[in-house]
Amino acid sequence: MSVRFGEGRFGRIKLPKVGEVRCALHRRFDESLWAIKTVTVTMEPSGKYYITVLTENKKAVLPMKTTVREEATSGADVGIEHAFVMRTPTKTVVVDNPRHLQKHLDSLAVKQKILARKEVTFTEVTLPSGRTVKQKLPSKGYSKQQKLIAEEHEDIRHARRNFLEVTTTRVADDKQATTLVVETLNLKGILRNHCLARALADVGIGMLFRMLEYKFDRRGENVLRADRWYPSSKRCPVCGKVNADLKLKDRRWVCPHCGAVHASRDETAAINLRRYPFLSEEEKVLLARKDVGKAEQAADPLRAVSQETDLKTELRREPGTDDNQASAFEGSREGCFNRATGKTETSPKGLKHTAAVGSQEASSF
Ligand SMILES: [Zn+2]
Repeated sequence: MSVRFGEGRFGRIKLPKVGEVRCALHRRFDESLWAIKTVTVTMEPSGKYYITVLTENKKAVLPMKTTVREEATSGADVGIEHAFVMRTPTKTVVVDNPRHLQKHLDSLAVKQKILARKEVTFTEVTLPSGRTVKQKLPSKGYSKQQKLIAEEHEDIRHARRNFLEVTTTRVADDKQATTLVVETLNLKGILRNHCLARALADVGIGMLFRMLEYKFDRRGENVLRADRWYPSSKRCPVCGKVNADLKLKDRRWVCPHCGAVHASRDETAAINLRRYPFLSEEEKVLLARKDVGKAEQAADPLRAVSQETDLKTELRREPGTDDNQASAFEGSREGCFNRATGKTETSPKGLKHTAAVGSQEASSF
């Protein structure tokens, strides 16, 4: 395996058996410093070929992790309305969801419709086993149209990836913060919920987290994950009490305990995530177990007695965390169903909120 860098963007890469191929090189590297580990050749459905060269720096070692300090910690909340809301020690950064797929849905629908009208014939093919199967014989027009669709999907994929690269680099480059706290999302669970799935998958959250992690690692900085059950959007960042009645549709809320006004739910979540590593272990455990009353008791012993009774009722209503999760998604399906009958709010925003009321993972959307 060898790579030859030519003038400008172009160069040649020598592949085993294939020989030298001309290609556009996206990055230059010094082969005396970077060892080529693996090379993967892929063909995109649009017909374009990509060669991925995995290299390893022979000398570099990952820097030691810096210590987690409160004055250098940021919290980030991901969601649908805003792809990313980050609270740094001094400011709030909001990155809107670019909705790459959403923007292309109309034009994709037109292209699919044209494809459906193209001619396809079938032939019967007899396999060596003696079984006959139908084989698709697409017309030239069909194949061309198929390629157009594949190209559009490729554009969407590239735009999404570019957006994530740019956003995560910006976050990792922030000199003020050396620690970032994110929430732990049950991605599989959320993607199973078809109301949220498309919008969330469109952000590319899994890839966002992976990029953040390796970009922070490279800089010797930390990405911490808050507990799955940490009520990041329901906790009042001013008094520390949990507002258990908060629904997903409540974007703006007033704390019933201290009267603080929380104008943005996502920002509140980001502030709470930023604080997470500095809560006492006891508080973390209590918050995670949704022992709302007891967590408050830790903060304010005088309220203990009345909260104790509330807590018991709540525990009876929500038996186990797993059952609770299952029922939350059950509920969300209902929410979607109701859209058809027009029983719930018809705005997409409202729906998302109806969709996952009570579900902790989805609470920040
Ligand atoms: Zn409060």
